[in-house]
Amino acid sequence: MTHTQHYIGGTWQSSKSDTILPVTNPATGGTISCIPMASRTEVGRAVSVAHEAFLQWRRIPVSERIQYLFAFREKLNTHFEEIARSLTEECGKTLSESRGELRRGIENVEVACGAPSLMQGYNNEDISRGIDEHIIRQPLGVVVAITPFNFPGMIPLWFLPYAIATGNCFILKPSEKTPQTAAWLIRLLDEVGLPLGVVQMLHGDKEVVDALIEHPGTRAISFVGSTPIARYIYAKAAEHGKRVQCQGGANNVVVILEDAEIDSATEIIAESAFGCAGQRCLANRLAVTVGKSRETFTDAIVAVTRSRKVGYGLHETTEMGPMITPESRGDIEQFIKTSEKEGARIIVDGRGKTVDGFQDGNWLFPTLIDNINPSGKLAKTEAFGPLLGLLHADDLDQAIKFVNSQSYGNMACLFTTSGAAARKFRYEAEAGNIGINVGVAAPMAFYPFGGSKDSFFGTLHAEGKHGFEFYTQTKHIVERWPNS
Ligand code: NAD
Repeated sequence: MTHTQHYIGGTWQSSKSDTILPVTNPATGGTISCIPMASRTEVGRAVSVAHEAFLQWRRIPVSERIQYLFAFREKLNTHFEEIARSLTEECGKTLSESRGELRRGIENVEVACGAPSLMQGYNNEDISRGIDEHIIRQPLGVVVAITPFNFPGMIPLWFLPYAIATGNCFILKPSEKTPQTAAWLIRLLDEVGLPLGVVQMLHGDKEVVDALIEHPGTRAISFVGSTPIARYIYAKAAEHGKRVQCQGGANNVVVILEDAEIDSATEIIAESAFGCAGQRCLANRLAVTVGKSRETFTDAIVAVTRSRKVGYGLHETTEMGPMITPESRGDIEQFIKTSEKEGARIIVDGRGKTVDGFQDGNWLFPTLIDNINPSGKLAKTEAFGPLLGLLHADDLDQAIKFVNSQSYGNMACLFTTSGAAARKFRYEAEAGNIGINVGVAAPMAFYPFGGSKDSFFGTLHAEGKHGFEFYTQTKHIVERWPNS
C-alpha cells in the first residue's frame, strides 16, 4: 500500500496531521493507498511557497512557460496506460472510460499551449491626438482548484494548464476519494522540471478548503463538485474577496420526439445514463418521451439497460463499473425506494446484485424507473448513480416546460430528425450545455464548459477562452509621450 503525500515546494511531504484517510478500490473494497489531511500550517506554507515562486514565474516569458506544458503532454502520453489503470483502480470506471477521460484532459494541456495568443490584450493608437490606450492581461498570483472524485484525471486539467501558462502558481486540492490520479499528474510535472512552487498539491476536506479560501495569499478559487458545496464555496470565496468559479451538480433531462431514430437514440441515451456508473455530471438522468415514442423508446431502453455488462473496470469487456462508495450506493437505493412510494414503477431493478469474485464492490446495476412523479424527489434532486427515470409528455412544449422546471441547468438533450424542433429546443431549453442527438454534450477543451442555474455559480467557466480570462486580470494603460 502506498502513502500518497502532499506536494509542497517541489518535494513530497508527509503530514504532521494525525488524520489519515484510506483510499479504497470501489470494485474490490480493498485499501489501495492512504492520504494525510493537511493542517492550516501546511496550507500556510504552501501558499507562501507559491507566492515566492509566483514572483519569478510570472517574469518567465509565456513562450518559455508553455515549454513545460509541451513536455508534460509528452509525459502524459508516455504514461497514458499506467495512469488509466490507476484511475480505474481508485474510481471504478472502465479502462476505456479512463482512457477517454485522460484524452479529454490532455486536450486542455494542448489548448493551454496557445497562451501566447490566447492571453493577449488589445490596444488603440491615438484615442486622442498622441495618446494611446492598451489593455494587458496579467496573472493573478496564487490560485486554487478543488476537484471532485468522478473525473480525477480530467478535471484538475480543466484548470492547472491554463493557470500556469498564464503565469499563476497553482494549488490543487483533489478529492480525498481519488487522489492517486492527481498524484500522477503532479509526479509528471515534477519530472519535467517545473520550477518549485509553481504547482503544489494538498490533500484534505472542508478544513483545508476553508483554510485555502480564507488565506489572504490566495487570489482565485475554482471548484467542481456537488451543488450544496459549490454554493458554500462560492459564498465563502466571495466573502473573502476571491475571484471564484463553482461548477455544481446536475439532473439532466433528455427529450425523445416521435421522429427520433429510436435505435441509435437508445444506445446513446443508455451510454449517457449508465456510462461511468451514472457518476457523470453530464449523465442523462430523466428521459421524457413525447407522444408515440413512449412505447418505442421504453421497449428499446429496457432491453439495452438489461444487457449492460457490469464488472471490474480493469477487465476489458466490462461496460459499467461500481459506484464510488457504499454510502453513495445506499443514497441511490434510497432514491429508488422514494420513487416507488411516489408512484413510479421500477422496470429494471439493479439492486441486490453482485459481480462474481467481487462481493465487496459497491455494485448497483443499471436501473430503469417508469412514471416518475414530475414533482417528486427524483425529478427534482440529483441522484448520482446508474439510474434513468422515464416521464411522458404530449408535445415538445410540455417537455421543455419540464426541462425548465429543474433548478439545475447543466445539460439538456433532444433526439429528433426535425431541424425546427432542434432549433426551438436549443433556443428555449434552460441549460448551459445542449445536446442535439448527442447524450453527453461535453464541450471540447477549446470551448468553455457550460452550466447554468444551480449547476454553475460564477461568470467565467472552466476551459477554453474562459480559462485564460479567469486566470488573468486586465490592466489599462493610457499613454502619452510628449514630443513623440
Ligand atoms: P463533493 O461536492 O462531495 O466534493 C467535491 C470537492 O469538495 C472534493 O474535493 C471534496 O473534498 C470537497 N468538499 C467536500 N465537502 C466539502 C465541504 N463541506 N467544504 C469544502 N469542501 C468540501 O462532490 P463529489 O462527490 O466529489 O463529486 C460529485 C459531484 O460533482 C456531483 O454532484 C456531480 O454532478 C458534480 N460534478 C459536476 C461537474 C460539473 O462540471 N458541473 C463535473 C463533475 C462532477
